[in-house]
Amino acid sequence: MSDPVNVLAPEHRRLRIGDGWRDAASGATFAVEDPATGTSIAEVADADAVDGLAALDAASRARAEWAATPPRRRSELLTATYRALTGRSEEVARLMTLEMGKPLAEARTEVAYGAEFFRWFAEEAVRVEGRYSTAPAGGYRILTVPKPVGPCVLVTPWNFPLAMGARKIAPALAAGCTTITKPAAQTPLTMLLLARIMEEVGVPPGVVNVVTTTRAGEVVSALLADSRIRKLSFTGSTEVGRVLLRQAADNVLRTSMELGGNAALIVCADADLDVAVDGAVVAKMRNLGESCIAANRIYVEEPVREEFTARFAERMGALSVGHGLDDGVDVGALIDEAAVTKIDELVTDAVGRGARVLVGGARLAGPGHFYPPTVLVDVPDDARMLATEIFGPVAPIIPFTSDDEVMAKANDTEHGLAGYVFTRDLRRALRFAEGLDTGLLGINRGVISDPAAPFGGVKQSGIGKEGSHEGILEYLDLTYAAIDLP
Ligand code: NAP
Repeated sequence: MSDPVNVLAPEHRRLRIGDGWRDAASGATFAVEDPATGTSIAEVADADAVDGLAALDAASRARAEWAATPPRRRSELLTATYRALTGRSEEVARLMTLEMGKPLAEARTEVAYGAEFFRWFAEEAVRVEGRYSTAPAGGYRILTVPKPVGPCVLVTPWNFPLAMGARKIAPALAAGCTTITKPAAQTPLTMLLLARIMEEVGVPPGVVNVVTTTRAGEVVSALLADSRIRKLSFTGSTEVGRVLLRQAADNVLRTSMELGGNAALIVCADADLDVAVDGAVVAKMRNLGESCIAANRIYVEEPVREEFTARFAERMGALSVGHGLDDGVDVGALIDEAAVTKIDELVTDAVGRGARVLVGGARLAGPGHFYPPTVLVDVPDDARMLATEIFGPVAPIIPFTSDDEVMAKANDTEHGLAGYVFTRDLRRALRFAEGLDTGLLGINRGVISDPAAPFGGVKQSGIGKEGSHEGILEYLDLTYAAIDLP
């Protein structure tokens, strides 16, 4: 089979700005690596602030015409993108695996998930509505008029190279906004391929601009400082999110922030253990654990602790590690050496505090950035991994004896993105749904993400929602008109 990189012609490994593809003004490029081998797979343009502002020029020029494009036409272009992505799923997935490291099966799932945002928001594009009502005191009428906010800066992480961008570009376009996407430096190729696909299906010039760079801070702050930008949507770490929120404050920008998580997964003694083990494996291991909603802490009620742990550990130990493009691989390479080192340190810290390793527990020899599925028990409350996003295939198991105790521990974090509860008792499930401080909750399910559902965290996990009807509202301003009609 041909090299997956060839799906993106060399002329499209450059900046997508306006109606063309261009080199960085400085002529600089940077290498994209296969994390499974550490070898370079492609060079892409390395933008600086000049290029970022050129993309903003293009997005600003296209703004009025795109906002005035009939919603049905915008919808059709999003549907065409959905069809093209679905039809070319294999090519997109192979490129994604090569630059990001996840197994091909996971990449295919992400392409399907990412494509669904285009289908969902194609359907939302034609359902943007205002309201008309009589003022309570009479005498005049109230009319609300939704309008696209204007050019948006979209900053995305490396862990879902397609879906995190799709979740922003699709609602922005549906609402009538133009966009500048800055993908993560480690995974720019999938986003460039999406931009190429959107060009091919006929999305007009200037509506989807993509700027690849190793100077994220310089490029994004130049954009945020320009008053033509009207919105920032960011997915990434809480740490960088805080920096960008401060910058966005200067121009009082609308922001959507999808930040880090520290999900607790709670297995109650009355749970169906088949369901709980399946759910825990997928909630931990989807995307190699490199997911904001990955189960970071697994709390198991004492009576089922032994049985759950034995069955979960057996499943984790049976997963095969290797290059994501190879057949039969369950766990691919982590994104980089820093990720492996961080996980190694977290495991060493937990073991130093008394945790025991049941499965895995030591980094694998290179080349590439591999860490095996790992299960730890007797993990004490002060282990660093319970307070930090592990972002890898490591599962700490902690026993609990009462709902109040586990609820307090689960909520004892600055994050509030996702949680999971396994129980057959409806009242217990509802008490957890009401008591856990999270934006998302899986009840007897390890998979939560759905383009039709509002995704987003509370506390320091973020602001705003992506997907569902709420997702398009993030890209719409509302003008209220008071109409005199005595
Ligand atoms: P990150 O380091 O925060 O980077 C995210 C994006 O921000 C990248 O494009 C990065 O560019 C850019 N960036 C970094 N520093 C910047 C700066 N000073 N100014 C402007 N942009 C900057 O996060 P990551 O390591 O890529 O992704 C993992 C994180 O994302 C985890 O915390 C995870 O939980 C979170 N995440 C959250 C969600 C959600 O929906 N809540 C979904 C997925 C991931 P470079 O690549 O060039 O550094």
